[in-house]
Amino acid sequence: MNAAVKDTPLVERQLGPIEIFYGLDHGKYPQGNSFIVRGEQRSILIDPSLGLVARKPHQPMADTVLYSHSHEDHLAGAHLYADKPCHIHRQDASGLQSLAGLLDIFGLSGDGHEAFIESLHSKYHYQPRADVQCFENGDIFDLGGVSIEVIHTPGHTAGHCCFLFRPRRGQY
Ligand SMILES: [Zn+2]
Repeated sequence: MNAAVKDTPLVERQLGPIEIFYGLDHGKYPQGNSFIVRGEQRSILIDPSLGLVARKPHQPMADTVLYSHSHEDHLAGAHLYADKPCHIHRQDASGLQSLAGLLDIFGLSGDGHEAFIESLHSKYHYQPRADVQCFENGDIFDLGGVSIEVIHTPGHTAGHCCFLFRPRRGQY
């Protein structure tokens, strides 16, 4: 990490029930940005990134983790939430379940990927989550007063999803 990146302040922003945790260097790759949606009953973190690792030991907490897709920059803070249930689309689940599954999502097979594999461990803190749960298009997570709807948007990866936040009517 160069000095210019290191000196960038960590910024947070609140948008209704959604708190945005920007990564260093304005969240540019490999940093990424993360979101926490706080409802009346529970909170959900979306895409634990390196920006959360940079906040250690003051990283924000949440009850559950959702992943938009299975790429290293969106999983890099996953180890901070190893005791929380996590969910991803069925077609990207293999990337969380095992390192081989993540390599498969990149279309990498055979030898010659040692440097990337090393970076997955040393830079992106990769830890498999065999217990990841799967969601499908249209699934809804109700947090109490706000819900999150899963919208399957394949392309970037086969299981890539967007999340639609719906605050209760009259709120925000
Ligand atoms: Zn990606």
